Amino acid sequence: MKKLIGILSLVALLLMVTACGKESDSADKNKLEVVASYSVIADMVQEVGGDKVTVTSLVTRGTDPHSYEPTPQDTLAVEKADIVLSNGLNLETGKGWYQKLIENSRKEEVSFVVSEGVAPKFLTTKGEEGQEDPHAWLSLSNGQLYVENITKYLGQVDPDNQAYYEENAKNYNQTLQELYETGKEKFAQIPEKQRVLVTSEGAFKYFAEAFNLQAEFIWEINTDTQGTPEQIQRVASIIKENKVPALFIETSVSPKTMEAVSRETQTPIVSTVFTDSLAKEGEEGDTYYDMMAWNIEHISTGLLGD
Ligand SMILES: [Zn+2]
Repeated sequence: MKKLIGILSLVALLLMVTACGKESDSADKNKLEVVASYSVIADMVQEVGGDKVTVTSLVTRGTDPHSYEPTPQDTLAVEKADIVLSNGLNLETGKGWYQKLIENSRKEEVSFVVSEGVAPKFLTTKGEEGQEDPHAWLSLSNGQLYVENITKYLGQVDPDNQAYYEENAKNYNQTLQELYETGKEKFAQIPEKQRVLVTSEGAFKYFAEAFNLQAEFIWEINTDTQGTPEQIQRVASIIKENKVPALFIETSVSPKTMEAVSRETQTPIVSTVFTDSLAKEGEEGDTYYDMMAWNIEHISTGLLGD
């Protein structure tokens, strides 16, 4: 009897597994399979695509998209994708990881760059001046441009749902615009000489321009030599000269070097900030809107001091 029950439950289990498998297969078939290079774009696609898309981010949350080693699952996801979206502007260029993935999967035709139309900023470090700075999404105006591009490309590969995508995008961009207005009000309250934002990587050029700040950094871009004694001395003297009240550390960067700068200058690190990755799902800062709201709130409060 015991054996029979065992066999019966095994059969039941097998039936359940088969049923589940079939169900998710057919559900997925109706949806557009979108692959995004990193979490910020993936979240924007989810906002625009709603229940018409399934989104996969290649670079996982908390990981650096500048340089990345794709996994076999990434290759599979790109091969299956109806559309693949990247930031461009030199973001996914470390060892050419993204380009290789697209070429090997022969997805050139459905691979699009969401920063199209952004007025690029350039690196300032000697010898690198010709290179575009990738962090355009840290300006909410550029974020809205990304959303428009995403909407256009989704509509191109899935014209049946174009109106749906456009409606979602319109509503979403309105909330981003409102957040931008709130940010402008907050930063306007900070005295001019206190508007110096110091982070590890120089990721805040676009953000700083939007809110009239001066962005300073230890190293200009991840994948450079990070945290050399010269870089620490350079930023330390800027902090002392400007009497900068607060330092910030990115969630996707090791805090060690900024801690050294903090000790050297006797200036506190007051908050984490989001740059190249969203927070893990369920944590604060796990959407593009929330990461920008977090940055605005914590940077404006920190620079205002008390
Ligand atoms: Zn970066």
